[in-house]
Amino acid sequence: MRTRIKCGWLVGHANGHHTLWRNAELVYEGNSVLFVGERFEGQVDREIDASGKFVAPGFIDTHVHSGHRASHRLISDIGRGDYFGQPFLEISVPREGTRVGGDVRYVRPDDNAATDELTLNARFTIAELLRNGITTFVEFGSQLRVQQALLEVVGELGIRAYLGPGFDSGRWVGGEGGKLVRVLNEASGDREFDLAIEFIERYQGEHADRVRGILVPREIETCTVALMTKAAEAAQERNLPVAIHAAYNIHEVYDIIREHQMTSIELLQKIGLMSDKLNVGHGNFTCDNPLVNYSDSHDLDIMGSHRCSISHCPVNVARRGRFLDNWESYRKAGVNVALGTDTYPRDMILQMRNASYFGKVASGNLKSATAAQVFEAATLGGAHSVGRDDIGRLAPGAKADIIIIGLTGNDTLRMGPVRDPIKSLIDCGIGDDVETVIVDGIVRMENGNIPGIDFAELRRQAQAAGERVWSRWQEWDPNGRTADEMSPYSFPKQN
Ligand SMILES: [Zn+2]
Repeated sequence: MRTRIKCGWLVGHANGHHTLWRNAELVYEGNSVLFVGERFEGQVDREIDASGKFVAPGFIDTHVHSGHRASHRLISDIGRGDYFGQPFLEISVPREGTRVGGDVRYVRPDDNAATDELTLNARFTIAELLRNGITTFVEFGSQLRVQQALLEVVGELGIRAYLGPGFDSGRWVGGEGGKLVRVLNEASGDREFDLAIEFIERYQGEHADRVRGILVPREIETCTVALMTKAAEAAQERNLPVAIHAAYNIHEVYDIIREHQMTSIELLQKIGLMSDKLNVGHGNFTCDNPLVNYSDSHDLDIMGSHRCSISHCPVNVARRGRFLDNWESYRKAGVNVALGTDTYPRDMILQMRNASYFGKVASGNLKSATAAQVFEAATLGGAHSVGRDDIGRLAPGAKADIIIIGLTGNDTLRMGPVRDPIKSLIDCGIGDDVETVIVDGIVRMENGNIPGIDFAELRRQAQAAGERVWSRWQEWDPNGRTADEMSPYSFPKQN
């Protein structure tokens, strides 16, 4: 079936770059784009009227930790100084001998009571992504059962996904007095690696090829060199993309230097993981960062020469008092900057705005991190990170992953007069402006509605799940605090 979209504005693609069309047409047939231009002369079976609206390639979110992220709600404006702002140390490092409670991402493999919660986790994640115009996402290393639940909902709601259970050879725990300790469990890493390979072999190409596999050694400092070497070999053998947290955490940066006498980026290169299909999350503490005070760093050069990607999550990073230093030097070095939402909200337009503003400030240059560059990062950058040239763009032959964005600010004055829709979107847009989402040629959201998803019901379930997470905080908090002790309300709560 052929569908024509009549577009007020349209982002096309030619010679490796996005282009802009005014009052133009996009035609797709089956799951592929057939035509981008002023007027299509052939026959069509169906028409979508997006005149006055903005038609663009769907966004690619390269850093998703699934779930409703209730635990992250406790760490706005607070945190332990000795964690240097690293959020996962605050919300997922349990007191030794305990397990993070309430959050289904840490559920025991044999806990069958968690099935409903796993489904909620997956439905909330994918519905939120689609609502914000994200048509492809990369899950960053949740365990097998989380991936299985996501796989099912990917089938049901129709998004495109890179899935694969994460693996590591140990983890951080809270030792005596809350002291940060890294524990090693090589056997568990090997087991998880085998599960990851098995999962990917089984589900690669599932749901009409909307599911692809990705290898995720979770964090460079919690994986042994042997495990990461296995991952590098498997990635090469099977031509798989890889995602890993590295150069992202002050503890990791200095631990790796001390343990390996090289930087995290140098270690990734030595192991054979550094490539154009490597997604480094978040890569903001390379040793080129002046805050690290490392002499003669070549990290950005190494990353650039391999054309590897960073999944830059500007909102989450900024909430922790940090930023990418800096956008311009990464781009100049040839690093592919892709964007991710990481925590909440999963609003790629908000991410682009923050990437742009922080990029300008950190680069000391108003011409840095332009609207065009951050839009590229959210589309072409994401596609490059997983080695694809058929998504993140609208050109004949590319996948029909298309979003339609309203330019009226949901009938308010927020957008003001629109001259350049990319600049208007970055400066004034929000995720809710996305009205229609098409993935693989199928309409998956229309006028803000996702068939099979009741937002009110999902909100209610997520709120209840959040209350459970918060109420169980003391069970595992390394400092034995309740949620209210750890995270006081903004103003004294009176009842
Ligand atoms: Zn992450």
